[in-house]
Amino acid sequence: MTERLYYDNAYLTEFDGKVLECRPNGDNFDVLLDRSAFYPTSGGQPFDTGTLGEAKVIDVNVTDGEVWHTVDREIPVGAEVHGKIDWARRFDHMQQHAADHMIAGALHRMMGGVTIGLHVSDEVSTIDVAMPEGVTRITDEEIRRIELDVNEHIQRNVPIRCWFPAEDELEALPLRKKPTVSEHVRIVAIGDDEMVACGGTHPASAGQIGLVKIVSVAPARGKMRVAFLAGQRALNDYFKCREAAHAAAELFSTGVDNLTASISAMQEKLHAAETELSRMKKEQLLSRAQGFIEDAEVLESGVKVVARFVEADAMLLRDLASKLIEQPGVIALLGAMNGAQAVYVFGRSSDVNVNMGTLLRDSARPLGGKGGGKPDFAQGGGCPEILGAALSALKEAE
Ligand SMILES: [Zn+2]
Repeated sequence: MTERLYYDNAYLTEFDGKVLECRPNGDNFDVLLDRSAFYPTSGGQPFDTGTLGEAKVIDVNVTDGEVWHTVDREIPVGAEVHGKIDWARRFDHMQQHAADHMIAGALHRMMGGVTIGLHVSDEVSTIDVAMPEGVTRITDEEIRRIELDVNEHIQRNVPIRCWFPAEDELEALPLRKKPTVSEHVRIVAIGDDEMVACGGTHPASAGQIGLVKIVSVAPARGKMRVAFLAGQRALNDYFKCREAAHAAAELFSTGVDNLTASISAMQEKLHAAETELSRMKKEQLLSRAQGFIEDAEVLESGVKVVARFVEADAMLLRDLASKLIEQPGVIALLGAMNGAQAVYVFGRSSDVNVNMGTLLRDSARPLGGKGGGKPDFAQGGGCPEILGAALSALKEAE
C-alpha cells in the first residue's frame, strides 16, 4: 500500500517515489507510487495538485487503500519521480480542515453538538452538526461564543498533534466521537480539549490557522449547517467587508459605526418621500378629471365617454374613475400600462344604463384578457387593445 508521507509530515512539499503502476484514464493516466506526499480527496478535504516529474497532477484519489494520482502524461513503470505539491493550495486546506475540528470541538464542548461531515469547497467550508433536541439554528450570541472560543485557542497557539495510538491507548482517549475505522486509527488533538480520529492534514499549531469566522448557520437536511472561513480566506473576507463598509459609510458621509443608523434614517426618508410623491400624483391626476370630461367623446344619447390611458396604479385608477362618475351622464373607460400589459377600470354614473361588468368582460375575452364586475364598476387586465374594443362596442350599441 502507498506509504502516505503526509501522515508524518504535513509540511513535506517535495519527495521521491517509484512508479508501481501507470494506467490510461481517458486522455490522462492514473499513477500509483510506492510513497507519496499528495493528499487524496477524503474526509471532506480536497486533493492536492502539483507535479510528478514533468507530469501535472490534476486529481488524487484513494482506491482500496492505494493513492492514485491522475496525471496529464504517461510515466513509465519503474521510473523514479520527483513529486512537488502546490503548497498554497495544501496549506489553505490544512487551515480550513483544522478550523473544522476546532468549530466542531467548541460546538460539542459548549452545546453538545455532534458534527457529521466536513466539506471544504473553493469558497466556504461547511460542517453539518446534529444538535441536541434536533435544533437547527443557534442565536447570534451563541455563534459569537463559538467564534471567540476558537479564536482564543488560535491566539494561545495551542499545539496540534497527530499520531497512531496503540489499541489500549486508543481505548482510553477522550475522543469527541467514535472513530469510523477500526484499524490504523489516526488521532488529531488540538490543545487539551479537542480530540478526534482523522486522516487529514493539519498545521502543527493553531496559531497557523490565523483567523476563523463563521459566515452562516442554517438548517440543512434536518441538521445544522455551519459555514466558515479560515486563514487567508477569513482575512480576505475581512478586507472585502471592511472595504464595502467604508465605501458605504463614505456615501453617507459618516463612519462605519453609524452606518446602520444612517441607512435606517435614509429608508425612513425614502418612505416618506414615496408617500408624498404618490399623494401628489393622485392630486395631480384627480385635478385633471374635469378636463377629461370636457375632452370626452359624446355619444348620441348624450353620455360622455372618457376613454384613455393614464399613468397610475390600480388604486389610483379606481379613485379617478370614482371621481369622474360622480357627475351624471359619464362613462369612464380607464387603463394604465403595467409593463406590456394594461390594467383597466370601467365605471359609469348612476343615471347611465350600460353594464360595465359585461362591457369589460366581453371586450377583454376575445383579446385574451379578463375582467368583470358590477353593472356600474368593473376591473380587469390584458392587452392595450381592450380599451379601443370597449369604446367601439359602446358606439355600436347606440
Ligand atoms: Zn482532520
